[in-house]
Amino acid sequence: MLVQEIFQSIQGESTYAGLPCTFIRLTGCNLRCHWCDTQYAYDGGERLKTADIVTRVADYPHRLIEITGGEPLLQIETPELCQRLLDQGYTVLVETNGTLDIGLLPAGVIRIMDVKCPGSGYECATLWDNIPRLTANDQIKFVVADQNDFNYAMNVVLRYQLDKICPVLISPVIGMQNLPQLAQWILQSHVPLRLQLQMHKILGIK
Ligand code: SF4
Repeated sequence: MLVQEIFQSIQGESTYAGLPCTFIRLTGCNLRCHWCDTQYAYDGGERLKTADIVTRVADYPHRLIEITGGEPLLQIETPELCQRLLDQGYTVLVETNGTLDIGLLPAGVIRIMDVKCPGSGYECATLWDNIPRLTANDQIKFVVADQNDFNYAMNVVLRYQLDKICPVLISPVIGMQNLPQLAQWILQSHVPLRLQLQMHKILGIK
């Protein structure tokens, strides 16, 4: 596999926010979101076998692991890596941009699926076939750059009744979306959306 970095941090997003976590960041992405903050993961990285990645992860004491990118589902070995980690008893989160088949991941993985909003430039890239694949074990995320993005997110949430399926996460694009304003929109929506503050960025640990 092509691995950009393996590091520890405080999980900054999802319902696991606040917990120590080991991150495996894989190289490569099929999108180029306007506000992407991980452009350094588009290329480069180190080639490692899945078994070697599991060994490296074991250097850290954390039982929570997030596989992120880039886009993890671009690499065909990602399901195998997930299964190896699950077999070792880890809790495994996979953060995906929602444009590839999440059904390829083994049962037991917690899939955190983005739905790209217009501000990213990629709202047309979402693989809507993934929606019926979501379970209560998964989480769905919208990254919001402005009010148009929030309105788009609300339309998608209501159309697919996403809040009835799994937790729905709303993140601001740092430096673009005013946080108190986003909180007000969430309160006015009367939908149980979960505001995320991207704790890892506040802490400055990746
Ligand atoms: S999907 Fe994620 S990694 Fe890829 S360009 Fe968008 S923000 Fe960056």
